[in-house]
Amino acid sequence: MNAEIFTSEQMKKMGPIFNHFSFDNHEQIVFCNDEDTGLKAIIGIHNTVLGPALGGTRMWNYQNEWEALYDVLRLSRGMTFKSAVAGLDLGGGKAVIIGDAKKQKNDKLMKRFASFVHSLSGKYITAEDIGMETRDMDIMKEVTPYVSGISESLGGSGNPSPVTAYGVFMGIKASCNYKYGSDNLEGKKVWVQGVGNVGESLVEHLTNAGAQVFITDIFEDKLIKVSNKYGATIYKGLDVFNQNVDIYAPCALGATINEYSISKLKASIIAGGANNQLEDEDKHGKLLKEKGIIYAPDFLINAGGIINVNAEVAGYDRAESIRRTENIYNTTLEIFKLSDTEGITTHQAALNIALKRIENRRKENLK
Ligand code: NAD
Repeated sequence: MNAEIFTSEQMKKMGPIFNHFSFDNHEQIVFCNDEDTGLKAIIGIHNTVLGPALGGTRMWNYQNEWEALYDVLRLSRGMTFKSAVAGLDLGGGKAVIIGDAKKQKNDKLMKRFASFVHSLSGKYITAEDIGMETRDMDIMKEVTPYVSGISESLGGSGNPSPVTAYGVFMGIKASCNYKYGSDNLEGKKVWVQGVGNVGESLVEHLTNAGAQVFITDIFEDKLIKVSNKYGATIYKGLDVFNQNVDIYAPCALGATINEYSISKLKASIIAGGANNQLEDEDKHGKLLKEKGIIYAPDFLINAGGIINVNAEVAGYDRAESIRRTENIYNTTLEIFKLSDTEGITTHQAALNIALKRIENRRKENLK
């Protein structure tokens, strides 16, 4: 995962949990522990000013509990801004279950986790993230109504990944429009890092649009499958960041944009689906701006999934989800312009819009 292991020196500096550097004013953090099933999970509720905190559950084999805490805090904070900038009446939350999904996930464990979610009476609503499938949401739904992303056959919105990928595709097109004066992707070289649920669907959109797609993944079988299906080229070089591409689309884990990758990157656009792409939001956002690399903020362009699961909470249909996801194109362009006129990073520009919306609602709620 994109988390660090802390040295004892760093731990001393962290002080109490409320001063943890990722705490950032979280409203509530719930530690879930169950001896019978072996469940160890953390639910992070960052902010509920705009509505209930909605965000997926990730199951990952974290190296230690600090790493899991760090991950959930960063992810739930990200959800607050994602929903706010997408114009949804949702707050930000996320959950992590500590363990190997392939070996430790079972129905009993998922039901026990669902009972912890239920105990929050709707303040937190869960959905899929890494390590979770639509079936897991269906199982949880037997215990609590506070779950989204359930199967279409049960009245849900199904797997959100294709809609996420479509939003990312909109973000890529808007970035091309801004950088090259046209959103035509014909002949553009695009590197998709990670061909899982989101990455594969993005490869499909890109190849249909005539782009030349290069793919990387840690699993050879996934690469072969996607290459055979869409004619994408498997990157065989030694240093992935050194590829001669126009667009870099991170669709795997976070924190891939850092000093090392920025020093190597030849791409003039970064736009992908992964959460928390900037290792340091401020520092690396500025470095990208200095280098003239257009960065489409992750939490802005990967909002298609949350827009899609929100359909279950807000009661709109698939067509409306797609319309709202297509609007990511216009919002991305607005944010690029704002970044230029105000001389701030694109990440900050998107964040400012989200923060303003939350602040306005907070004042209204106080009336
Ligand atoms: P996934 O697990 O289906 O796919 C991730 C892929 O990345 C896997 O194929 C994995 O093997 C690969 N990978 C892991 N490490 C890699 C590395 N170092 N280099 C190359 N490939 C690597 O997950 P997903 O649902 O496709 O999500 C991908 C990213 O998008 C995650 O960061 C997730 O949080 C984010 N995201 C997903 C959604 C959604 O709707 N699924 C919504 C918003 C954000």
